[in-house]
Amino acid sequence: MYPNWILQRAYLTPNRIGLSFEGNHWTFEEIKKISVKRAEQLKSLGIDKGSRVAVLGENDSSLIFIMYGCMHLQCEMVLLNRKLTTNELAYQINDAQVSMVLVNDNDLSLLPEDVNYLRFSEIENSDCKPIEISREWPLQQTISIMYTSGTTGFPKGVRQTVENHQSSAVASVLNIGLSEKDVWLCAVPLFHISGFSILVRSLLYGNEVKLYRKFDHVQIAEDIVFGRVTNVSVVAVMLERILHILEERNQKASPSFKLILAGGGPIPKDYLIRAEQRGLKVLQTYGMTETSSQTATLPAEDALRKIGSAGKPLFFNQIKILGADGPYQEGEICIRGPHVTPGYIGRYEVKPSTEDGWLHTGDIGYVDNEGYLYVVDRRSDLIISGGENIYPAEVENVLMGHPAIKEAGVCGVEDATWGQVPVAFIVLKKDVSPDEIKEYCLQHLAKYKVPKEVYVVDALPRNASNKLLRRKLKELLS
Ligand code: ATP
Ligand code: MG
Repeated sequence: MYPNWILQRAYLTPNRIGLSFEGNHWTFEEIKKISVKRAEQLKSLGIDKGSRVAVLGENDSSLIFIMYGCMHLQCEMVLLNRKLTTNELAYQINDAQVSMVLVNDNDLSLLPEDVNYLRFSEIENSDCKPIEISREWPLQQTISIMYTSGTTGFPKGVRQTVENHQSSAVASVLNIGLSEKDVWLCAVPLFHISGFSILVRSLLYGNEVKLYRKFDHVQIAEDIVFGRVTNVSVVAVMLERILHILEERNQKASPSFKLILAGGGPIPKDYLIRAEQRGLKVLQTYGMTETSSQTATLPAEDALRKIGSAGKPLFFNQIKILGADGPYQEGEICIRGPHVTPGYIGRYEVKPSTEDGWLHTGDIGYVDNEGYLYVVDRRSDLIISGGENIYPAEVENVLMGHPAIKEAGVCGVEDATWGQVPVAFIVLKKDVSPDEIKEYCLQHLAKYKVPKEVYVVDALPRNASNKLLRRKLKELLS
């Protein structure tokens, strides 16, 4: 058994600020009081202890208090992505078999018909029903269920337990350290593990979360420059936009600023170099929904020496490369540790999440001679051309280094001679001819990796997490 994080934190440091949002602040004692009230209100509206409910809403304080209310009730919370279409939401709500959807009033129009729902305002204005709140939680209790991004196929509903979240938060802090003055800026969605894990860390560490409704790059750059926050979580595009502001204003990060945790996908090397010039420590991290956030993270002191690496596994976990018998050999990345999900729900429930305790990630990578992990690409996107392996990510990285290219996506197409050949789809910043791009690639890549065709398009197919859907690239041709 482990302590109820919310009660325990309020007991340990009641008067510390735990949350700030749009000019308001809440101490941990206040967070406890409001969240207990939400639990009592949910109970009076018929939500039973231990039931499975879905939650849908944008980043704001009311979402957090309702989620914490559900946690007091020991509900299994399915955190829905509000960038999904109504059809995609219907799929997840049905797959998860939830008894109720708790929805922010603003997001009501996103909900499919025929689902049971309670609006946040109804909950907040409801009467309370006194309940006994458990001071302890079993290790294997499911706290949250999150759907994977659906980059390689159907989204999978992943269970994340007390143990998963807790070991992830502890492993993270063993890597980056802690001071009671730390403030973690959260502008990533709370329904993703990147955002939700910031809340878990705050409850375990006793530090403040500065929450943003939306990603406001100008405001966030100012927070970094003026030392209002110490840690920020971002994905690559966010980092680029923050860098852009710092460069435009010729500003550097405050000396009290600690780090940017960058994950969700690979971070282009060029961003890491630009960040260094702005005094920003960027920690590249590798993780997934199935590992409740980070599994490997590059220590800041190695940020440039090991550029492009996702670092070493955090304290409690192990990484192995399937089939590799030495450094630099590529294979599927497998992960083992207390942060790995015990399994999927719904349609994928039958699929074991691990084999002999190892999660097979579907990602290809290698480990160098010092034990640093490099994530190469997704196994399913591998292009085999004349017997040679081509990873789209490598080609995309080269393309993105061209000053005229804003975005790039690469996939394989059938070819009579080579089996498959790579082709590229690019979105432009300024005019350039496809021949010039091919010429540029020839300077940076082996000839067989150079895209046979370069197509200029207006936009690339992306999912609700903004991830490139390479399996849909070919459809752009028809
Ligand atoms: P699905 O499993 O449904 O196809 P998804 O894998 O994109 O979707 P997430 O769990 O959101 O869903 O994303 C995790 C994946 O993101 C990893 O398996 C990996 O492919 C990619 N990723 C995360 N961090 C990195 C990184 N540092 N470098 C490269 N890829 C990364
Ligand atoms: Mg995945």
